[in-house]
Amino acid sequence: MAPDTEQVAVRLAQQIEASGPISIAEYMRVANTAYYGGADPLGAAGDFITAPEISQMFGEMVGIWLSDIWLRHGSPSGCYYVELGPGRGTLAADALRTMKRFGWEPSVHFVENSPALRAKQSQAVPHATFHDNLDSLPSDAPMFIVANEFFDALPVRQMILSHAGWQERVVVRDRGSRFAAMPGAPIADTVIPEHFRVAAVGSIYETCPDAAAIMQTLSHRLAQRGGAMLTIDYGYTQPGLGSTLQAVRNHQYADPFADPGNCDLTAHVNFLDLARRAENSGLAVAGPTGQGAWLSGLGIDQRAQSLMRAHPDRAADINAARKRLVHRESMGALFKVMATYAKDWPKPEGFGP
Ligand code: SAH
Repeated sequence: MAPDTEQVAVRLAQQIEASGPISIAEYMRVANTAYYGGADPLGAAGDFITAPEISQMFGEMVGIWLSDIWLRHGSPSGCYYVELGPGRGTLAADALRTMKRFGWEPSVHFVENSPALRAKQSQAVPHATFHDNLDSLPSDAPMFIVANEFFDALPVRQMILSHAGWQERVVVRDRGSRFAAMPGAPIADTVIPEHFRVAAVGSIYETCPDAAAIMQTLSHRLAQRGGAMLTIDYGYTQPGLGSTLQAVRNHQYADPFADPGNCDLTAHVNFLDLARRAENSGLAVAGPTGQGAWLSGLGIDQRAQSLMRAHPDRAADINAARKRLVHRESMGALFKVMATYAKDWPKPEGFGP
């Protein structure tokens, strides 16, 4: 545990004591900033493992996907590789190595706010330029943007229906000095989509304002300058009511309110909302489709075969990793892949006919 994360619960408690309950979004923002900022949570020995950490094949498929679009658009020079929340930089390193084989070495820009993970990323990709947020990203050339398990880490806002109407869901300290959620200030009905307004008491409506804003800004730039964005995450395409806020620690689900700053707080990604924002900015959308179908369409089976032939001693591990990424009962169906791209650019591969 990094020293700072121990202080998060204390800081949140003081904040609530001094100025009253805080929104779920504020709670999640403070907790996750400390969580990612203090240490590297990824990998088998950490709290959770992501697709690029399971196998190099994942980043390689991303690299092939990007290279295919770039080649079919006539190999334009001066493009940017942009990754949001690159973790350990593993996906980028695997993708960029693959892209180089197609003769493409774009300049690399990472949007990352964790000092601990930035250090790892600069080891994996030494020439990367770092950005705290989208504001400083270059905007003078086409961008190829990758976001794997990024949007799920952004803070969600929750509204809850009580007998008094819709209210912001907030975090308080209960009598046992534990963090707990409860209904807070009333909010205008108009914030809730019309078809959800009349619901059972206790219903929760969730939004992710940061995800929406990021998607909108990047979509606007892609529409202006060209390029494509690949979003991979767990999420849904048919929004409903209910909380998807969850905590993971040591590869197990935990109570999101038990230990802020020491577990990964995430929420499922609303792909429908992200797709609409891209479309409204003038982009085309492909997918979302299951990660398994997307990886298979790009040739992960063939890549696994060739790796197994080259490394017979590791064949069982390579095949197990392939199955974990592709099979429905593992990551293949829960994780979804969506492409958003400039309309005059080639239709991306991996999404069927
Ligand atoms: N994409 C990586 C890591 C996923 S974990 C992988 O697949 O392995 C989430 C990543 O997003 C971490 O790198 C975390 O530090 C970063 N992150 C979370 N919230 C962020 C924010 N608001 N701004 C920038 N980076 C953020």
